[in-house]
Amino acid sequence: MLGMSVSTGHGLSGPIYRVEQVPEHFQEHFILRGYRHPKSSVTQCLLSVFDPTNETLNVWTHFLPAWYFVWVLYYLSGSTDFLNDQYTWPLFCYLLVCCAFPLASAVAHLFNVLSDRARHVCFFLDYSALALFSFGVAVTYRAYCFPAGLLREGSPFAWYRDNYVFVAAFNAMLCTFCSCQTRFMKPSPFRKAMRLGSFAFPYLYDSVPIVYRLLHSTPEDSSSLTAHYFFTRQFFLSFLAAFLYASHLPERLVPGIFDIVGHSHQLFHVASIMAVWDQLQAVLADFEERREFVQKHWQFELAKNSILFVLVVFWINLFIVAYFTIKLFQLKHKLKSS
Ligand SMILES: [Zn+2]
Repeated sequence: MLGMSVSTGHGLSGPIYRVEQVPEHFQEHFILRGYRHPKSSVTQCLLSVFDPTNETLNVWTHFLPAWYFVWVLYYLSGSTDFLNDQYTWPLFCYLLVCCAFPLASAVAHLFNVLSDRARHVCFFLDYSALALFSFGVAVTYRAYCFPAGLLREGSPFAWYRDNYVFVAAFNAMLCTFCSCQTRFMKPSPFRKAMRLGSFAFPYLYDSVPIVYRLLHSTPEDSSSLTAHYFFTRQFFLSFLAAFLYASHLPERLVPGIFDIVGHSHQLFHVASIMAVWDQLQAVLADFEERREFVQKHWQFELAKNSILFVLVVFWINLFIVAYFTIKLFQLKHKLKSS
């Protein structure tokens, strides 16, 4: 391993390696070239964003959208009173998590070759940001997008409606725990399914009210056909993203061709960001058009406390990441001393 004096190319950050030259746990399925040194320096990691490696576009496809969402937040703050109007606070939370999860992902993809431990910690943070995003989505769906059928008094789904956000918070923490746990498991279809399931379950849970709304639309719901259109597109793109993540297509068919440009993880990033963009358009349409209707059915405290809830989930997720980081260090220590 690491006959690393013989590299397959050279970039600004240093030599670039083939799959058989890097440790097994750094290898990606069906990706043959474009690996960075598994013990790169911070400077090498930063310079590698200009090199033709298999991570370069993984970084850019989330780094640029993160700044796009920062710009959206800035742009909306010109016409939206985020400071004084409580109606806007769930939207503010949602925009924050829209900025945070692609940024965390870009950082994870950039620095995961600092060391073995750093690789794990980077992805712990990536998973926890994704889980936090799922919670931000639940807060904003509950605030602006719930279907009239679930909001009305006497709805048979009152328990679900009233506890939707709390269950989503639990899901977000469980998702972080399970996805981090998969990094301690040996590669297997079960590990892959558990990791994908950890992200799919909160997404599916969050989406139930939207699916219900699309299937049982009432006049109050269909006031925003724009929202329905973007929600439908968002579902299509999300399933496409999950399919790309799970299938390793197209590189599975012709290994070596898509190593630098066009492999499944890059396409997964692009599809998932397009899905979030569609979701944002739908949320903004509801935010504009349903104010009068949804505010009548708000759990006022919930909306008022939305920022607090997001912060609580953020900190608990960070504790989970800290727990797994300590576990990682203890494991390495044990292996060394045995
Ligand atoms: Zn990624």
